[in-house]
Amino acid sequence: MDLNRERIRDDLRGLVKGDVLADDVYLQLYASDASIYQIRPLMVVRPRGTEDVVSTVRYAAENKLPLHARGAGTGLAGESLGKGIVVDFSRYMRRVLEFDGSTVSIQPGMVHAQLNQFLRPHGLQFGPDPAMTQVTTMGGVVSVDSGGSHWLKHGSARRHVERLQIVLADGTRWDAARESPTDDLTGEPTRCDQVVSQLVDCLTGNAAIIREHQPKSVVNRCGYQLADVLNGETVDVARVVAGSAGTLALITQLTVAVQPLPKHCGVTLLLFDRLESAARAVMEVLPTNPSACDLMDRRHLSLAREAAVPFDLIIPAEIEAALLVEYEGETPAEVRDQLNHIVDRLRRRKRLAIAGLIAQDREETELYWRLSHGATPTLHRFKATTRPLPFVEDFAVPPHEFPEFLPRLQNVLKQHQVTASLYGHAGQGQLHLRPFLDPNNPGDLARMTPLATDLYHEVLEFGGTISGEHGDGFSRTQFIRLQYGPLTDVFGEVKRIFDPSGILNPGKVIEDAPDLLTSCLRPGLPAVAQVASPLGGASGNDPAETSSAAAELPVSAGPPPTSAGKLNPLTELRLTWSREPLAASAGDCNGCGACRSQSSDERMCPIFRYAPAEESSPRAKANLMRAILSGDLNPSTLADDEFKGIADLCVHCHMCRKECPAGVDIPRLMMEGKGAFVQNNGLNLKDWAMTRVDTISWLGQFLNPVGNWAIGNRPVRWFLEKLLGISQARKLPRFSPRSFLRIAARRKLTRTTRRAGGKVLYFVDTFANYHDPQLALALVEVLEHNGIAVFVHPDQLSSGMPMIALGALAKAKEVATHNVALLADAVRQGYVIVTTEPSAAMCLKHEYSLLVPDDDAGLVAQHAVEACAFLWQLHRAGRLRLDLKPVNARLGYHQPCHLRALEIGTPSENLLRLIPGLVVHEIDAGCSGMAGTFGLQRKNFRASLRAGRGLTRALRDPNINAGVTECSACKIQMEQAAAKPTLHPIKLLALSYGLMPEVAEFLTARSEELFVS
Ligand SMILES: Cc1cc2nc3c(=O)[nH]c(=O)nc-3n(C[C@H](O)[C@H](O)[C@H](O)COP(=O)(O)OP(=O)(O)OC[C@H]3O[C@@H](n4cnc5c(N)ncnc54)[C@H](O)[C@@H]3O)c2cc1C
Ligand code: SF4
Ligand code: SF4
Repeated sequence: MDLNRERIRDDLRGLVKGDVLADDVYLQLYASDASIYQIRPLMVVRPRGTEDVVSTVRYAAENKLPLHARGAGTGLAGESLGKGIVVDFSRYMRRVLEFDGSTVSIQPGMVHAQLNQFLRPHGLQFGPDPAMTQVTTMGGVVSVDSGGSHWLKHGSARRHVERLQIVLADGTRWDAARESPTDDLTGEPTRCDQVVSQLVDCLTGNAAIIREHQPKSVVNRCGYQLADVLNGETVDVARVVAGSAGTLALITQLTVAVQPLPKHCGVTLLLFDRLESAARAVMEVLPTNPSACDLMDRRHLSLAREAAVPFDLIIPAEIEAALLVEYEGETPAEVRDQLNHIVDRLRRRKRLAIAGLIAQDREETELYWRLSHGATPTLHRFKATTRPLPFVEDFAVPPHEFPEFLPRLQNVLKQHQVTASLYGHAGQGQLHLRPFLDPNNPGDLARMTPLATDLYHEVLEFGGTISGEHGDGFSRTQFIRLQYGPLTDVFGEVKRIFDPSGILNPGKVIEDAPDLLTSCLRPGLPAVAQVASPLGGASGNDPAETSSAAAELPVSAGPPPTSAGKLNPLTELRLTWSREPLAASAGDCNGCGACRSQSSDERMCPIFRYAPAEESSPRAKANLMRAILSGDLNPSTLADDEFKGIADLCVHCHMCRKECPAGVDIPRLMMEGKGAFVQNNGLNLKDWAMTRVDTISWLGQFLNPVGNWAIGNRPVRWFLEKLLGISQARKLPRFSPRSFLRIAARRKLTRTTRRAGGKVLYFVDTFANYHDPQLALALVEVLEHNGIAVFVHPDQLSSGMPMIALGALAKAKEVATHNVALLADAVRQGYVIVTTEPSAAMCLKHEYSLLVPDDDAGLVAQHAVEACAFLWQLHRAGRLRLDLKPVNARLGYHQPCHLRALEIGTPSENLLRLIPGLVVHEIDAGCSGMAGTFGLQRKNFRASLRAGRGLTRALRDPNINAGVTECSACKIQMEQAAAKPTLHPIKLLALSYGLMPEVAEFLTARSEELFVS
């Protein structure tokens, strides 16, 4: 770190209570957002309150340092990126402050969906609905003046702004709403007085220019919104700042009006065989007062069909376009009538639509909305050299111009020989176009500016706007003059009134640099880093450099020099892939930010859920690896503690791999990264202990009863905590008097069977072997009861998942190679490999293939199956015995992350529903928080309980007798946190078959009986 940066960091740390981040690794995480751009900032401040913001702004003003406000970083035009100090509001400033029934005051980092969750019990909502509601912050939503599908009903965010607490560029704090110039001419005018009077003069003097240069489109997000803020001598300062993308002031509190939730709503998906028919249909739909009307083209629909089976079933291949139209009403009948009316009108009378599917129940309605909202991010799922790049993704024309405009749009694409996906809010004339270009191809990148220019000429000819809801950022600022002509100079004047020294978010809205669109392109892969520079490049032509303030910025960008002598740890890889797919995998992340979700509708990242900081997010891991691969960070970063700090925030649960719309394989990237770290530094003692949990369990079981005495003895636990980091507060499972492998040998299960058909190799893993042989025996009993022969290979080792999760890949490889060899051999003899432990199933089906480079790993993956999935398959083949006796209990089922990631449905829940008398409630409350060995460690103990709070709360319901889950780590957490027993589904099957009556005792066990106390 250079001395200047170090000084600024120390100064800021002395001034603010929040975080000040200055390490290259952390700065890199803030260098990108959901756009195609990348600029590494000088510093990141995460304020804890307004005072911190004021101090930061004052310091920046004194030192002429640019400031860039940031929410969730989901902007598509690079609005929150820059070379100065990034102020991240999303970490700590995320609370509701006041609510009076019609307005709500919040901090800017509050997530849009969480605000709506707070308002829902009051029958209210904040109506404007940007698609990324689960993650976007209200500060971002108001600063961009975001809209969404329901613009027809609610307009954009700015319409609902009542007042804003802002911090001006000199650090002045201001509760701003509609203001008039001060009458008091005696005293020195305050900074706020100056802004108001200068603004009134500017707007009054330029009223004609402002009026004449407004677009005819019904939406407009380009430049500053000046047409509706002056009323006589008063000016609505809050609404000038709303939509100004952090270029006029920083927002520290927002007071916004809230709207009633609709009583009833329903949607129709109208299908068309021509795009032009859909465009004409929009004008038929609008007079019927819909609450939303979205358009999807053929490419958008066909990609959605490929991404999800339900869409394939409902949308025939020949469909060229679809409209999703929503109505709201007082009663379901009223909504139904409106839906029927529009379908009938467009199909029979106007003969425009060829079909109209109607949905009024929640599930189906959500499915149709997913088609509209969810498909855009999934465009990135399809691996090809070209990608749907957002750079002309936000223009709008008056909706009645659609039939004329769309052919002109297609002509522009044809001229530039580009294909694109088209989706938009047709009701408000808004189109999100994403041309497919190869970001690694200089030729493709060179087409961006001419394509945008030609397209915008067409848009403006129809009276449209180049930005309908996403704002200008780097993508559109250079075209603002094209749209507004002389009004652009008025914007410049407004900027100077608020921010005379130009420190607030330079490079956005006010900037005359000609090549902003292609400057600072994000280097996805090493090749891009080379091609980017002729066009402005990642390290060249930074728009911030053209601003006066940024010109004086102490330089921080660019990787530090490679430290000679340190191994470049990604030249030789530890997993079974080469550098290209590794780099491509990191480059697959488009930065959309969906993985910052804390919503209960998704599982996503358990670590981000309880510690919502950028470095906790899966996106951060992809950014980190991409930067190392592209050279933006020194490869030796992989050996640094900062890297480990961030890598340790991935507990290898695989949830992001499953739920990321672009399908980025973050756990694999992190496996490689952690592996490199361990190869360079070795394991510290605490990590080493976690990777050897199986050895510790073996020892505890071998030494029994001393083992059980030891884990219940305070001094021993204190010692274990100090030495190995195992939390004293964590209740540990008892060691069994005898391991299952020994029991199996006695029962002669360790011999292969000669029987043909129906034979299983049981892969036991640590917990069932050393702590819960009853589970292993239950599986054996259940399988044998169903005529399946069981073989327990005596030489099998534990799965090695803790080694994989902590990057001890050399040892993990040894374990995997050993297991694969003996399991593949068994497969060749006709065995199916069955395991009761979800993380072991994940190893067999997924991780071993990444570690072991021969075909046997694939063979094992193909023939391995989780125990409940195996039995459910048996049932579906009509071969599972159903002589099940009643078990009268009410259970709360938690599905472990690793099973969810295997995408096998919920076989255990299905099986349990076969048991008479058993009532199973699915608890869909996210991760248990235990995350393998994560929750065992002292440093994570509390965090782990917090992360599993949703599950614990649900389990504590007095109507639930016990928990049920397949995962042993989740079981430990559930039993400790909810003080109720938790059983494996296989044990309940054994009980119901009458094979293990002793299991009944566990259904009513008391907390102290579950652990050694
Ligand atoms: C897949 C996808 C779909 C999207 N769909 C929509 C959509 O339907 N509608 C829509 O409008 N947008 C959409 N967007 C764009 C984006 O989500 C919105 O613009 C969103 O409002 C940005 O919020 P954020 O919290 O991520 O803000 P950021 O991206 O972090 O910041 C956005 C801007 O707000 C400024 N800002 C943030 N906080 C403050 C503050 N406290 N004070 C001053 N300035 C601040 C930043 O400087 C920046 O200029 C989409 C993006 C993606 C990736
Ligand atoms: S990891 Fe996936 S969800 Fe997260 S930002 Fe990247 S693409 Fe989006
Ligand atoms: S694998 Fe799990 S812990 Fe790791 S980043 Fe993804 S969701 Fe988070």
